[in-house]
Amino acid sequence: MQQPTVVLTGGAGFLGSHLGDFLLERDYSVICVDNLITGRVANIDHLSGNKSFKFIQADVSEGLKIRGRVDFVLHFASLASPLDYARLPIETLKVGSLGTFNALELAHHKGAKFMMASTSEIYGDPLHNPQKEEHWGNVNPIGPRSMYDESKRFSEALTMAYHRKLGVDTRIVRIFNTYGPRMKNEDGRIVPNLITQALAAKPLTIYGDGKQTRSFCYVSDLVDGIYRLMQANFSDPVNLGNPIEKNMLELAHIIKDITGTSGKIVFQSLPGDDPRQRKPDITRAKAILGWKPGVTLKKGLIKTVSWFKGKTP
Ligand code: NAD
Repeated sequence: MQQPTVVLTGGAGFLGSHLGDFLLERDYSVICVDNLITGRVANIDHLSGNKSFKFIQADVSEGLKIRGRVDFVLHFASLASPLDYARLPIETLKVGSLGTFNALELAHHKGAKFMMASTSEIYGDPLHNPQKEEHWGNVNPIGPRSMYDESKRFSEALTMAYHRKLGVDTRIVRIFNTYGPRMKNEDGRIVPNLITQALAAKPLTIYGDGKQTRSFCYVSDLVDGIYRLMQANFSDPVNLGNPIEKNMLELAHIIKDITGTSGKIVFQSLPGDDPRQRKPDITRAKAILGWKPGVTLKKGLIKTVSWFKGKTP
């Protein structure tokens, strides 16, 4: 039997590269399409001799032409960290609109299944905690994070339109904060920020009073959930994330303990529209995918810190 072929946009990024590894281990053929705007060749270097892996350096907002059979299109290309999307707002909106359109067109023409990487940010500053898939979100359409939030909301709407109107077999995964090896030190997201500062014995920066919460999922748990969703027959959005909520001060203290850093915690003003709470309700993922995360925050952070130790200059 022929290997199933996956087109994975954003496959040289943090999540995409882990997902590619996971699929290759399960005998999929993976075509990674990435323009390296935030991704890195280093994330996929180890696959260069793998016959089941192909890398195409291209911008998916410009078009997505692939020859031959395609069984899945997994659309993970996006700017994803607040620093990146603030720096590149138009590219963010393009990849979440034109990029998603091109990825859906490819799936439609190939008769392939489609999945888009959505985000908990579509809930905005949530009016309910935890966040259930039924919540429509509380998003500022013109705020400093709007280029990301609205690009993902548009992507979800476009995905449902292709599903309802054209019958494309689609999936929407709403990913909550995920961390692990291969995140970039300079990424701007809280986990790599704090780890990089701790390993350099620099002050650990907390924004606001540090009481805002996030729920952190280790990358291997997330990839397992994504794989299960690929196999499931379910087109409404599914939250994937770890429901154990921590505030930013708690996170900083865990990282201080693991690294034994002498760096002190310092406070800076909160960026605009920073959500106060993030906690996934994963009832749907449990029921449909039989999924729940298994890696504790401490275990996941220990693995991530040891990876950053090898990486931090
Ligand atoms: P990342 O920046 O490491 O990866 C994104 C990849 O997309 C990069 O390799 C980048 O070069 C590529 N890319 C961006 N624009 C492109 C374009 N126009 N054409 C081709 N490639 C392009 O970020 P990540 O954390 O791995 O995020 C992957 C996906 O998951 C994104 O869609 C993101 O929105 C979503 N997501 C991630 C998280 C998380 O916690 N990591 C949470 C919610 C959603």
